[in-house]
Amino acid sequence: MVYCEELKNAFCYIGAGGHHAGRDYFWGYCCFNDVVLAIQNLYDKFGELRVAIIDTDAHHGDGTRELIELNDFKALHFCICDRDYVSEDGLKIDVSYFTHSYRDAVEMFCDQAKNFNPDILFWYFGHDTHVGDYGDIGLKVRDYREIAVKIKQLAEEICNGKLVVVLGGGSIPEIARSSTLTVIRVLLE
Ligand SMILES: [Zn+2]
Ligand SMILES: [Zn+2]
Repeated sequence: MVYCEELKNAFCYIGAGGHHAGRDYFWGYCCFNDVVLAIQNLYDKFGELRVAIIDTDAHHGDGTRELIELNDFKALHFCICDRDYVSEDGLKIDVSYFTHSYRDAVEMFCDQAKNFNPDILFWYFGHDTHVGDYGDIGLKVRDYREIAVKIKQLAEEICNGKLVVVLGGGSIPEIARSSTLTVIRVLLE
């Protein structure tokens, strides 16, 4: 619906994770790879689209990375996690929050996405990065707001605002409530 512009954008309030589900394995409470299923659905209906994905869950999106490679999607997969990596084709990128500030990492994604010129943008959003949650890297709700504003602006600039936010990891109800509401409010602005 977002791709067809029946919806302006979307926040998918998924009750479990998705990015650790690969072809023949799953872990970390990720049974089905929601983002990859959505992309496959788009491919089935509309052919080979260009898709940009930013993963801001605290952990590496191993399942998503594997399935993008196996399915040969035309995808930019940019994952902010615990390591630095760039694939040969330059489209599978990991940026470490140990070696870069989070703000810089998001900025790097924006530059990459502008060059890539996608038809639609996916944001795999985990609030496990929040202070006190199980992937704590010191982020707070105001950081999520800043990231949301930036990614929404990016989508408006490069793909007519087509943005699908998919909920990833995080386990603390109060953090879930405030962080998801914050992101949703930015989408509604
Ligand atoms: Zn995680
Ligand atoms: Zn990664």
